[in-house]
Order: sequence, then structure tokens, then C-alpha cells
Amino acid sequence: YLLGLLALVLVFAMVGPVFAGGQGEAGSDKLVIGLSLPTQREARWVSDKETMEAYAKEKGVDLRVAVADADMAQQASQVENLLAQGIDVLILAPHDASAAASLVAKADAEGIPVISYDRLITNTDKLDLYISFDNVKVGELQGEWLTKQVPEGDYIIMSGAPTDNNARLFKQGAMKFIQPLIDSGKINVVADQAVDNWLPANALNIVENALTASGNQVDAILAPNDGTAGGAIVALEAQGLAGQVPVTGQDSEAAAAKRIMEGTQGMTIFKDTRLLGRAAIDAAIQMAQGNKPTTNATTDNFSIKVPSNLLTPYVVTKDNLQELLIDSGYLSADVLN
Ligand code: BGC
Repeated sequence: YLLGLLALVLVFAMVGPVFAGGQGEAGSDKLVIGLSLPTQREARWVSDKETMEAYAKEKGVDLRVAVADADMAQQASQVENLLAQGIDVLILAPHDASAAASLVAKADAEGIPVISYDRLITNTDKLDLYISFDNVKVGELQGEWLTKQVPEGDYIIMSGAPTDNNARLFKQGAMKFIQPLIDSGKINVVADQAVDNWLPANALNIVENALTASGNQVDAILAPNDGTAGGAIVALEAQGLAGQVPVTGQDSEAAAAKRIMEGTQGMTIFKDTRLLGRAAIDAAIQMAQGNKPTTNATTDNFSIKVPSNLLTPYVVTKDNLQELLIDSGYLSADVLN
């Protein structure tokens, strides 16, 4: 009897997943996952895409990818197109946090679970999962590093695109270190501005204007990511100040790694997009099979507390760049030449 029961359990374990998921594509038992990315402008999003494509292949999953060019209308029509293809799960990294809520509602109406990827989708109670890094921690690491370099002086504070919830979290984390020094009069804020659309050219303008207005009296620059750091450094270079003013960053882009070794950018943040991409595909498979994905936190999206899986970000400086970025295989050694 026991043996019979065991055999039955085994048969179910083998056949179960086939029944549970993969109805997306007619005539195939392959699971179909839709992936909507907001942009490929920053190198990290290229890495997210490549990782997920390779891992989906390894897992035997049919991954349908759509990339928007930092444009919400385009992303919305791409997501509608994915939903129409009969996907089993949607992984969505929104260009606009709150505008994407209506896409979650559409997916939900069709019984398709949604994973908010890297960037949180806000103002929806239909979101199933959020997979990202600990983004407040990212900001804390930037703020901690910068205030250690420059405990007093004149600061330019930049934050990311206002449409991106991450930008809010990064700034929140950084200001934990900067705000007390503003309050005690040690730090003077020369400019405090958001970089629309995360555009390096906008960051360049902000820094250029602040340098002009202050007569080059700037001691530190909080740049939220490597793209905006690059813009800031071009503005510093024009005044012969590159390398003299500590600048933060994030993403561990090849260009930033180079600037760190050359000394024009002080730090970046390493968020291993390889781990993030794989975690998202794993979670999508688990959800399609009716299983609970791994979570370690909840995140308030102004509507509900979204079950979350938040990975760890690390500070990269000249001292540990080789180990964290090159030895780990995230960047190839030639990018430093
Ligand atoms: C991501 C960053 C990226 C930025 C611009 C943020 O949501 O977390 O890694 O640099 O968007 O694309």
C-alpha cells in the first residue's frame, strides 16, 4: 500500500507541473513568460535582458521580450501585445511607476500574475511580487560614502527620474546621511534637483548651472547612477575640476569602472543583475506552477504591502573593483583599458 502511495506521489510530482502551467501557447507545454523592460539606455538593462534570455533558455521557458525606449505609451502597447500572446506570467519593469498600475489591472483581469521587476509599480493592489535590490540601502551606501569623503562643504544633490519609484528610495537612503549635516550647518546645498528621465545630458546641465551659479564652489556631488555621474563629470571636466570633486554613482557600468580607476568618479554600486534576472525567471516559473516564490520583505506601494525579494547592493571603489566586478565576471578586464 505504502509503495503504491509513493508511486502515486511520484507520478503527480512529475505530471503536476505540466498541468499547472504552460497553457499559454497552444499545442505546447512550454511555459510562456512575458518580459517588458523600460529601456536599454543604461548598460545594466542590457545585462538584465541577456541574463534572462539565457536563463530562460536553460530552464526551457519561452520568454517573450519587449523593450520600450523610456516611453510609457510604447511600453503600455507592448505589454498589451504580450498579454494577447497568452503569456502565463508577466515580468514588468515600469518606465512610469504609477502609470503601470493599469497594466497590472489588465493582466489581473486575465488571471496573469505580475512581477514588478527592479522598479516598483505603485498604486495597485493587484501586484503579486516585487523583485529588486534593497534600494534604500543603495542610497544609504551612496550617502554614507559621500559624507565620509566630504563631511562639510557645498553639495550638489541629484535624484533620479521622478517617474521611477527607485529614485525616491535612493534619495531617501542618501539623505539619512546628508540631511543631519545640512541641519547642523556643515553641508550647504548648492542645488537639489531631479534628473528627468535619468538623462545624462540633464545631469550635465544641472551641474553646469550649479557650477556657474556658485562660481565653482562645489565640494561633492550626489549622482544617483553612473549615467548621471558621467554627465556630472563632463561638466566638472569643462571647469578643470574632474577628479577633485567626489561623485557617486550606481550600476557598475563599464564606463564608470573606467572613471573610478582613473579617479574622476569615486564610487559606484554593484547590483548583480545576473542574480536579479535569474531570481525573476525562477519566481515566474514558481508562480506559474502555483507555488510561492521566495520573499524576504514587503514593500509599501501606496496601496498594499507587496511581497518582495530584495537582493543586496555593494559599494565599489578603486580598492575592491577588481574583486567585485572583474573577478566575478560581471565586467571583462578589457573595459579598464
Ligand atoms: C535602476 C537603476 C538605473 C536607473 C535608470 C533605476 O530604476 O534601478 O539601476 O540606473 O533606473 O535606468
